[in-house]
Amino acid sequence: MTKSDLRELPRSLAPLSDESLPGYLLRLSCRLHVPVAHTAARTGLARRSGTNSNVFLPVRLLHRADDSPLANFIRTTRLSAVEATNLFTFPLGDRYGPLNPELMSHSNSRPLVRNARWFFGRWTRYCPDCLTGDGSPIQNQLGGPWKRHWRLPTVFACPHHRALLHNACPQCGNAALTDATNFLPRAAAEPLHPTLCRAPTHNRYLRAPQPPTCKNDLTTTAGRPVDDATMSVVLALQNRLLDLHNPHGPAVIGSVGWQQSAAQYFLDLRAVTWLILLSWPDTQGYAHTPTLADAVARTAENARIAAQGQRDRPGKRHPSTAYTDPPIDPLAAAAVFGIAEQLLATDYDATFAIFSPLISRARSIEPTMAHLQRALHASQPLRVTLSHHKHDVWKRGRERLVREHPELTPM
Ligand SMILES: [Zn+2]
Ligand SMILES: [Zn+2]
Repeated sequence: MTKSDLRELPRSLAPLSDESLPGYLLRLSCRLHVPVAHTAARTGLARRSGTNSNVFLPVRLLHRADDSPLANFIRTTRLSAVEATNLFTFPLGDRYGPLNPELMSHSNSRPLVRNARWFFGRWTRYCPDCLTGDGSPIQNQLGGPWKRHWRLPTVFACPHHRALLHNACPQCGNAALTDATNFLPRAAAEPLHPTLCRAPTHNRYLRAPQPPTCKNDLTTTAGRPVDDATMSVVLALQNRLLDLHNPHGPAVIGSVGWQQSAAQYFLDLRAVTWLILLSWPDTQGYAHTPTLADAVARTAENARIAAQGQRDRPGKRHPSTAYTDPPIDPLAAAAVFGIAEQLLATDYDATFAIFSPLISRARSIEPTMAHLQRALHASQPLRVTLSHHKHDVWKRGRERLVREHPELTPM
């Protein structure tokens, strides 16, 4: 790349609140009338090799850019360092464990748990009203933000518009912005308005040559009909979880009776999600409405079918990831995390009575679950609870916990 390629852009854009890098590049590309890949190369984020169509935009660019490309991006777009940094997902790791390098540093779990599923989701969640924009001239022209937090499984509703997020384009059924290997679908093609679906009109994984692009206007997506009781439970839960995602939110929260950071709490939520799906319907009584119970039941059944398929594969030795993946459907995510939140609110001394039957049931379905527990990076107290389903062993584990972890503070 020559130096002249990296001059300041003739026109730049101020990022919107919680805007993601793909969303920002979509708006900037639309404004400059050039492909996203071209914009990424022009701002130094990606290297161009040969023609414009040969710009490689890896998925990991969603998460963070190296120092030198980031410095070029800041200079060419005239953003502040904070504005630029906040387009990436890595700052979310301060509050969200699966993205937190300190909490994930002892990971040897790669073959067992695809941690990436907990931030590089196979969905494109969105709120049509947020994408429509706030009525300001710039948002009327280019649409509202594609938000960073919509990437996280624990964000499933928009409290501002009091609606569930959508996870797929209603017209083609595909994820509108998610691509398995690239940063965005159609990154090298002519710019599309940021609120249009970029997915191919049929299954992208078939790799047919030049499938037509869907181009459905996502701002017209009809709201999902959900009964009022369910919606109020979902929105209250979403507000509590967004508080934990907020950098200014509570510093600690209780998890099985012990204080944990928000980042660790989300890892505990993940570990309990897996237990709920494996032991379903044993926690059915925690679902606040029949709609939420049905949503968990569908997810657990899909996980069971997927796990069976994985087990039947020849040469398969590891336990299934089917139960450790987050629910894709926003309603199911709300339903499962709502139960997980209640289980984590259990006082430690009561955990044995509540968790033990669930663990016994889970073990009968997935005998290799002991390996998974370590891989899920749960907090020490939750690990003790999940590891021991015999009362005397659990009791000794608790004594060891207090002895060996003086840093733990009871709630
Ligand atoms: Zn919204
Ligand atoms: Zn579509």
